[in-house]
Amino acid sequence: MQTEKKDIRALTKEQLRDFFVANGDKAFRGNQVYEWLWSKRAHSFDDMTNVAKPTRQMLEDNFVINHIHVDEMQQSSDGTVKNAVRLHDGLVVESVLIPTKTRTTACVSSQVGCSLDCNFCATARLKRMRNLNPDEIYDQVAAIDSESRLYHNRPLSNIVFMGMGEPLMNYNNVLKAIEKITSPEGLGMSAKRITVSTSGLPKMIKKLADDEVRFKLAVSLHSAIDEVRSRIMPFSENFPLKDLRESLEYWYSKTKSRVTYEYVVWKGINDRKEDIDALVKFCRYVPCKVNLIEYNPIDDGEFQQADPETIEAYIKALERDGIVVKVRRSRGKDIDAACGQLANKNESSANV
Ligand code: SAH
Repeated sequence: MQTEKKDIRALTKEQLRDFFVANGDKAFRGNQVYEWLWSKRAHSFDDMTNVAKPTRQMLEDNFVINHIHVDEMQQSSDGTVKNAVRLHDGLVVESVLIPTKTRTTACVSSQVGCSLDCNFCATARLKRMRNLNPDEIYDQVAAIDSESRLYHNRPLSNIVFMGMGEPLMNYNNVLKAIEKITSPEGLGMSAKRITVSTSGLPKMIKKLADDEVRFKLAVSLHSAIDEVRSRIMPFSENFPLKDLRESLEYWYSKTKSRVTYEYVVWKGINDRKEDIDALVKFCRYVPCKVNLIEYNPIDDGEFQQADPETIEAYIKALERDGIVVKVRRSRGKDIDAACGQLANKNESSANV
């Protein structure tokens, strides 16, 4: 039986150079192949036209290139595009291209499914199958970059890790992918244009700060009252707001980067004056801005978007305190591409 070939993109540039030297070639060949694999996005060894045929064959004998495959693209009436992305083992994740007049944003997944249990999120209903590898995350971004160039005549401008999964529970791979995305040998994008969104895992937020990352941080807050938050995000019972606050203070002291709080206002859940007061108070701890996200209903009626007056009351209270607040209209709702709607609806195989 043939032993399983290794994914060549799991190798660092150094390892690739060493591989060529060990096989009697020049280290420089490693640089060439590395460039093909990443910035030139080669899908097969035969694409590597400046590499000699026997060398390509030798690579073929030893490695595979596990590329993602965009199975299906769905386009929303507002221009948003959702990609169903098939991975080498047949599992499927989703990523989204969100165009505005001036930018194109990629919303990418970090895990297949999610192990957290936010009651309002469709992805939470898929159990977590596995973490994505760095190249699977990178490929989602590269695919959307190509689509942006093709349909909008411009490169991708921003990336948000707000697709399926909890990025900080796949910490190493997410950081490795971002390293590639920002490297000149990858997509050469600025880290400032990347936002990692977390449900709020204090230890991991501190680790990000210690690792001196340059990207932006968003936290899905949804309530600044422990009892309310743990009712809608049960896992957060183990991560009280005082720990989250402390981790964010640490993050800011190290990075000097303002935090974004994502917040949905629901009827009968977090629409009281005390909910507003608690958020205003929480926002005083570190420099921040608040994105009030429109709720995207997922089948049952437990959660309903609060009425416009309540949203207005939130905005007024936050602005009175000098806090920047934006209302984020949802995009791609008609194709289930909006926040919290990614659940592989069209893919029975991943819906286990
Ligand atoms: N796990 C990460 C990233 C994925 S969720 C996180 O929790 O931040 C991306 C954002 O969509 C989060 O802010 C999440 O709270 C929000 N979200 C989830 N379900 C939603 C829904 N049904 N409507 C609106 N926003 C939702």
